[in-house]
Amino acid sequence: MGEFELIRHYFATAACAQGADGVALGIGDDCALLELAAGEQLAVSTDTLVEAVHFPAEADARLLGQRALAVAVSDLAAMGATPLAFTLALTLPSVSSDWLAGLTAGLERMARRCGVQLVGGDTCRGPLSLTLTVFGRVPRGMALTRQGARVGDLLCVGGALGDAAGALPLVLGQRQVADSIAALLLERYWSPQPQLALGLSLRGLATAALDISDGLLADCGHIARASGVALVIEQARLPLSAALLACVGEDAACQLALSGGDDYLLAFTLAPEHLPDLQAGGQTVHVIGHVEAGQGVRLLDAAGRILTPLHSGYQHFGTPP
Ligand code: ADP
Ligand code: MG
Repeated sequence: MGEFELIRHYFATAACAQGADGVALGIGDDCALLELAAGEQLAVSTDTLVEAVHFPAEADARLLGQRALAVAVSDLAAMGATPLAFTLALTLPSVSSDWLAGLTAGLERMARRCGVQLVGGDTCRGPLSLTLTVFGRVPRGMALTRQGARVGDLLCVGGALGDAAGALPLVLGQRQVADSIAALLLERYWSPQPQLALGLSLRGLATAALDISDGLLADCGHIARASGVALVIEQARLPLSAALLACVGEDAACQLALSGGDDYLLAFTLAPEHLPDLQAGGQTVHVIGHVEAGQGVRLLDAAGRILTPLHSGYQHFGTPP
């Protein structure tokens, strides 16, 4: 099967590539054309997943497709943007129809859930990697950025932390736990749920936001730096799932919540008076700390003493000097 036949067969005819709101022209021409309403801005983000770096060799193609799109769309959620479209740049060592059908099915599933259309991409031969670029729309000036956290704000997260990192040894086949626990954790790893509704409801309320991809401590560090403030995290308030606690125990669960990556939940700051509005809207919000004057991220134990965390998160090129 040649490149063009492959594109036609697996991508151009996929359900997730067919006409949706905001897409004037999809796959097949030199560019896709997207529509924006007057007063909207386009939010754009790219993520690359490389075999053996971001996912294990031999990973199931369907799970990979759904995870790749979820990870990319999570950045739109973090900006308070509404998903519109995505492109897929695919590098493949060889063509396997089972693998491509699996990948498309996984993309399909997540695309439906997130309301996003496949509008283009690129296909070439080489070591397996996927690059997804997502496009979303947001009313002008309303996007949530990392900048803007203010002293006195609460620091919040959108769900239980550390599950995906807790699942990693299971993904890699390095550990076995009871099926019911494994199923819950693996679901969090392979099928992250971009917090799109939370992102939308944070517009105009949150002072800063991002999605946690590299671990809570590292990502809170980004908000602290961009906003010129210190973020204080109270370890005792970290939301931990029953599955994670059952799998690794409390100490390890805390470490995974702080430093494990791949949560794809939102972390954000907001003035305390806005918390009831957010909760009244039905959003799950966990307050885990607050914003102080200063810089960096401080972690406090239950008695209010400063703790030194063991690991601060994942970086591809090591820790900066
Ligand atoms: P060009 O050479 O003009 O860049 P290509 O020949 O690479 O275009 O692709 C033809 C069409 O197929 C384009 O619309 C492109 O966006 C789309 N396309 C190529 N690869 C993919 C893919 N993996 N997924 C979705 N669309 C793709
Ligand atoms: Mg062209």
